[in-house]
Amino acid sequence: MQEKLYEGKAKKIFATDDPDVVLQQFKDDATAFDGTKKSSITSKGTSNARISARLFRLLEENGVATHFLEQPSEDSLLTRKLDMFAVEVVVRNYAAGSIVKRLGFEEGQKFKQPMVEYFLKDDSLHDPLITCAHIEELGLVSKDELEQLKSLALKVNEVLGAFFAERGITLVDFKLEFGRDREGNIVLGDEISPDTCRFWDAETGKKLDKDRFRFDLGEVEEAYQEILGRVESD
Ligand code: UDP
Repeated sequence: MQEKLYEGKAKKIFATDDPDVVLQQFKDDATAFDGTKKSSITSKGTSNARISARLFRLLEENGVATHFLEQPSEDSLLTRKLDMFAVEVVVRNYAAGSIVKRLGFEEGQKFKQPMVEYFLKDDSLHDPLITCAHIEELGLVSKDELEQLKSLALKVNEVLGAFFAERGITLVDFKLEFGRDREGNIVLGDEISPDTCRFWDAETGKKLDKDRFRFDLGEVEEAYQEILGRVESD
C-alpha cells in the first residue's frame, strides 16, 4: 500500500508511483452539520466513486477539465494531483439547505437564474459564505481565476442539469472544488455525488441525496443506489 497523503471525512488520498497522480478511496463514513452528526452509509463509498467517475467522464466529454483519470476499483478513482483552492463553489437552481435558513427563501423555489456562491474551506471557521472581495483580500484566487471558476461552475451546471433531467432528476444545487495542475491549468477536483449535490426526483419530489441522512428521512442507502442506477443508465 502506498503512503496515505490525507484522510478527510469521506475520502482517503494515497500517493502512487507517479508524483502527478493520486488514488482517492471513497469511504462509507458520513458526516453532517459541521461534523457533529456521524455515521456510516452502507456501500456509499462505491456508489459515490462510480457516480463521480461517470459524471467526470461526462464533463470531460463536454470540454470541462477534471482530475479524473480512471476507476481502478469499485470504491476508488485515480486522479491528477491538484493544488486545491481553499474555496468551495456552490451553484443553486432551486432554494434548499443553508440559503433557505440564511435568506428566507421557500424550499423548492426556482431561482430566476442559476446562483453561484463561494464558501471558505476552513473547518475552524465553519466554512463561511464569502464574497468576491473576501476572496481577493484573502488572496485565495486571482480576479481572473475567480471569473473562470464561475463560468466553469455554470457550464458544469448546464451539462449536469441536462444529464439529470433526461434521467428524471432535478439538480437542485451542488458544490464543486477546483485546483491547479502542475502546468497551472484550472481543473475540477473532489467528487460529484449525492454527498455534494441535492437531487430531487422530478416527478415525486423525493429527495435522493445526503439530506436523507442529514434529516433522518430513511432509505438513505437506497437513495444513493437510485442515483447510481440512473446515472449509469443510457
Ligand atoms: N455542500 C457540500 N459540502 C459542504 C457544504 C455544502 O458538498 O461542506 C453541498 C450540499 O450537499 C448542497 C450544496 O453544497 O448540495 C449547498 O449546500 P448548502 O449551502 O445548502 O449547505 P448545507 O445545507 O449542506 O448546510
